[in-house]
Amino acid sequence: GYSPVVMEASNGYKRKIVTGSAGYLLEDVPHLSDYIPDLPTYTNPLQDNPAYSVVKQYFVNVDDTVAQQIVVHKDSPRGIHFRRAGPRQRVYFEPDDVLACIVTCGGLCPGLNTVIREIVCGLYNMYGVKKVLGIDGGYRGFYARNTITLTPKVVNDIHKRGGTIIGTSRGGHDTSKIVDSIQDRGINQVYIIGGDGTQRGASVIFEEIRRRGLKVAVAGIPKTIDNDIPVIDRSFGFDTAVEEAQRAINAAHVEAESVENGIGVVKLMGRDSGFIAMYATLASRDVDCCLIPESPFYLEGPGGLFEYIEKRLRENGHFVLVIAEGAGQDLLAESIHSMDKQDASGNKLLQDVGLWISQKIKDHFSSQSKMTTNLKHIDPTYMIRAIPSNASDNVYCTLLAQSAVHGAMAGYTGFTVGPVNGRHSYIPFYRIIERQNKVVITDRMWARLLSSTNQPSFLRAKDVVEDKREEEPPTQNLDEEKDSDEEK
Ligand code: ATP
Ligand code: MG
Repeated sequence: GYSPVVMEASNGYKRKIVTGSAGYLLEDVPHLSDYIPDLPTYTNPLQDNPAYSVVKQYFVNVDDTVAQQIVVHKDSPRGIHFRRAGPRQRVYFEPDDVLACIVTCGGLCPGLNTVIREIVCGLYNMYGVKKVLGIDGGYRGFYARNTITLTPKVVNDIHKRGGTIIGTSRGGHDTSKIVDSIQDRGINQVYIIGGDGTQRGASVIFEEIRRRGLKVAVAGIPKTIDNDIPVIDRSFGFDTAVEEAQRAINAAHVEAESVENGIGVVKLMGRDSGFIAMYATLASRDVDCCLIPESPFYLEGPGGLFEYIEKRLRENGHFVLVIAEGAGQDLLAESIHSMDKQDASGNKLLQDVGLWISQKIKDHFSSQSKMTTNLKHIDPTYMIRAIPSNASDNVYCTLLAQSAVHGAMAGYTGFTVGPVNGRHSYIPFYRIIERQNKVVITDRMWARLLSSTNQPSFLRAKDVVEDKREEEPPTQNLDEEKDSDEEK
């Protein structure tokens, strides 16, 4: 039998524990009716749309949930579930009353314009909402700039362009000024597209809106080219980035192959998570070694990088290295005086690992005059970030935008959208900002990479012992979450 226990946190989030033989934990998202009593509902205008009459069960059952873990042991609890995204039969906004706004914050990522386009078109075409504003230049645009009117006509072709037509920025998150602006302008749906910092900011905005008792839905669309947001299957722009990274790797390979003892170094995005480097390496097959933040490495001595480069040069005549920007930061800190600089949003500025490792490799081979090498370093970061999204990301961005629109119209708030095991879900902000999605180097995906490149694992005997200790059997806990994202 079912006996749901509901726990409500002070910030408005609910966790329902549904027990029974296969108990699970529903990490619910807040709803406007949680803090505004007697809110009227309306029939979803999609009900009268001829396109939807052909779809059986077009509307999502309000109680549908999506399981975070699909592979479960026969007697183990069913783990964490999220509310399924999609259109609801009843909505909490009358389309004529909606004034929506869209803001983009943080760094560029392919697909931003597609998400903007599809939010605008989704609101117009699915719900008949006619008032959508773009906030100019990130969070500070709420109080420091004029808004941009967005219509299907304005956004018609923007998905073919890189960047974001409404601009972006770092810093400038002044919660009360932002919520004042939302209140003064009469905005009642806020769509916030951005990375971890942006979603933290969105969460604070939601809490202030809730504190003031405003009927304003806050929806986040997670943006990270690095794929470092947990819970969701992948982030938009990632596929495009991996594809575009191939071009840089290919150029490095051509350069390296054309000269004697040529070495190509490609620095790719990935501050804390090496997914782009890992997938680009697996896709390319031209890479001899891939270095990511999650996997420590060393240069000198047996099993080190220099020994491996020398071996491959002797065997093959050339060498291609892919390195993620956050890899080896511990080694850089040792050799360069770290200044602990920050950007406007308070993110730590990293040392340039591409330049550093290129210099180290050159110094090593020239000082020992073992070999004359010829090294070319390519950093395609800004070229990759600036391109429009590819076909698969475009489709994905469309689903994200539509899910966000359905959720806000249905009165959900304080949520982000994203696919969990292929089903779009509404995920509480805290779930996606509490930790980062990382490559698990003890997982099968990293093992696949190692066997594809044949690179050393850089695990010294002592690391292996440390690793074993971490593999203690997990405790049986409903709250427990498998960190591994190996099949993603
Ligand atoms: P990316 O790192 O992928 O470029 P991001 O969203 O993490 O994207 P940031 O520059 O870190 O980029 O943050 C974007 C916006 O969010 C900034 O305007 C910043 O002021 C705001 N922000 C960041 N962290 C917080 C926080 N803890 N509380 C409120 N606002 C925040
Ligand atoms: Mg960030």
